[in-house]
Amino acid sequence: MKTVHTPCELVAELSHLRYECVDDAPRERLVGFVPTMGALHQGHMSLIHRMVAECDVGVVSIFVNPTQFGPGEDFERYPRTLEADLKLCEEAGVDLVYAPTVDQVYPEPFLTSVHVSGLTEDLEGAHRPGHFDGVCLVVAKLFALIRPHRAYFGEKDYQQLLIVRQLARNLDLGVEVVACPLIRDDDGLAASSRNRYLSPEERERALCLFRALTRAKELYEQGERSVERLEEAGRRVIRETPGVELDYFVVRRAGDLKPFPEGKVEGEGRVLGAIRVGETRLIDNMPLREPTIDTGTGG
Ligand code: AMP
Repeated sequence: MKTVHTPCELVAELSHLRYECVDDAPRERLVGFVPTMGALHQGHMSLIHRMVAECDVGVVSIFVNPTQFGPGEDFERYPRTLEADLKLCEEAGVDLVYAPTVDQVYPEPFLTSVHVSGLTEDLEGAHRPGHFDGVCLVVAKLFALIRPHRAYFGEKDYQQLLIVRQLARNLDLGVEVVACPLIRDDDGLAASSRNRYLSPEERERALCLFRALTRAKELYEQGERSVERLEEAGRRVIRETPGVELDYFVVRRAGDLKPFPEGKVEGEGRVLGAIRVGETRLIDNMPLREPTIDTGTGG
């Protein structure tokens, strides 16, 4: 595995990795990419393992991107564990890690922005103004440099996944955005680099988000289709937990995160929530899907 820190080193390394020689003819290899902010955990590793299994060349970026943090957010204290991250990447069979500095990603003068409208205004976009512009900017830059065939994103950041997919389509970036399932720790908490901030008591309280999502999902599975009743049942679980602030807890259409027009879940839904526990902000979500009926005919 190679680790590079500048755009020029990245492109030089990739030019070697991108082509192989088969029967004296050059053939392009399938390039996969997982963008991360580091402090790697089992959620990230599930994306990385899948990329390594499915692609010929596996690239990971590790960059705490300042443009996606708002004023007063945790950019400075965000965990940075590069040595441990590189070891995990190496063990997973990654070919190339790109770990640039802020100056390399945003050289002065930096005058360009990237904005996806519609999908970005609600939920995380409403609570973190400018956040998705920062995400889109860094992802567009990374896609432009790496030119992956496939990029793997986690459903943990479900809204981000839909936005990045739209960005890739609208800018004709030629990358397939692959959705990977959300990974949880044994107690149910969604794996996150920010879980490192939680004291044991805070972690216990943070679990109310998982319980609230589970409650809404259970009611849905028992046949409840009223968005209001599903949301209220989940919000109650969170309100009953002391020391937790609710940012939002909503049931939306899975495809575009818009509200269901009649207030009834029809087709695939997604229940999404965000809470604050002390200084830490956490997000999580679950799918609401009709059970698939196994007709037993096999195939
Ligand atoms: P981050 O380092 O937080 O920017 O995350 C990098 C990628 O890992 C994003 O595509 C995330 O959605 C994904 N990811 C983070 N946590 C999880 C998780 N618990 N399960 C699945 N994917 C995750």
